[in-house]
Amino acid sequence: MLVDSHCHLNFPELLENLPAIKQAMQENKVGHALCISVTLPDFPQVLALAETNDNFYASVGVHPDYEDIDEPSVDELLKLADHPKIIAIGETGLDYFRLTGDLEWQRTRFRTHIRAAIACGKPLVIHTRSSAEDTLRIMREENAQQVGGVMHCFTENLDVALQAIELGFYISFSGIVTFKNALTIKEVAMQVPLDKMLVETDSPYLAPMPYRGKTNQPSYVKHVAEEIARLRGISLEEVSEATTNNFFRLFRHAVAN
Ligand SMILES: [Zn+2]
Ligand SMILES: [Zn+2]
Repeated sequence: MLVDSHCHLNFPELLENLPAIKQAMQENKVGHALCISVTLPDFPQVLALAETNDNFYASVGVHPDYEDIDEPSVDELLKLADHPKIIAIGETGLDYFRLTGDLEWQRTRFRTHIRAAIACGKPLVIHTRSSAEDTLRIMREENAQQVGGVMHCFTENLDVALQAIELGFYISFSGIVTFKNALTIKEVAMQVPLDKMLVETDSPYLAPMPYRGKTNQPSYVKHVAEEIARLRGISLEEVSEATTNNFFRLFRHAVAN
C-alpha cells in the first residue's frame, strides 16, 4: 500500500472526477491521501473531502503564493485544526520563485503556521522554492523541530535535505524525481535514509513520467515510488512499506483504516 502525502483533490479538474480517481487509487494500491489546503476559503471543501472519505485526511493552511488574501492568525489556524481528520498544518513556507519584491509577509505567515503547529502538536507541510536558506533559518528560529513535518515536493540539494532531517523533518518526493534531467533530485532520492522519505503527487500538478504534462492524480504516486525503487536498487514493495510507515509515524493523528 502507498500513501499520497500531498494532493489538491478539491481543485475542480480533480473534484469533478472523484469517483474515477478513487477507483484508480484502489486499483494501484494507493490506500490513503492527504488533501492539502492552500487558502482559508478553500478549507471547508478540503475538510469535506476528508470527512466524507475514510481514507482521506486534510491539512489547514495558507500557501505562500497567495498574496492578497486574509492573513490567518495562530488562533484561527488552531480553531480550524481542532478536528480529528486534520492531521497537519500547511501547506506553508516560502516561495521566492513565483513572487518577488518585499516578501516579508511570506516570512511572517510562515512563522504563524509554525507557531500554530507547535501549539496543537500537528506536523508542518512545508513548501520551499528558491528560498531554502531562509526556510531553514526560520524553521530554526521558530523551533520547528518541536513538531517536525515534511519538506514537500522536494527540489533542493542533499545538503538542504540533511539539514531538514536534522530538524526532525521528512523529505517528500513528487513526480519531478521521474524527470530525466532532474539529476540533483534523483541523487537526493538515492542518499536520503529510507526511513525519512515520503512520496506524493502534488496533483493536479507535476504528473510523473509517463504522464508528464497531463493532469496528475493520487494513483500516479506509484510511478514516483517505482522510480525511487529503481534508483536505490530495491523493490517497489520496500519503498511502499517504508514510505507508508513513515507517513503514519509522522502524522500521528492519522488513524489508518
Ligand atoms: Zn507546494
Ligand atoms: Zn501543494
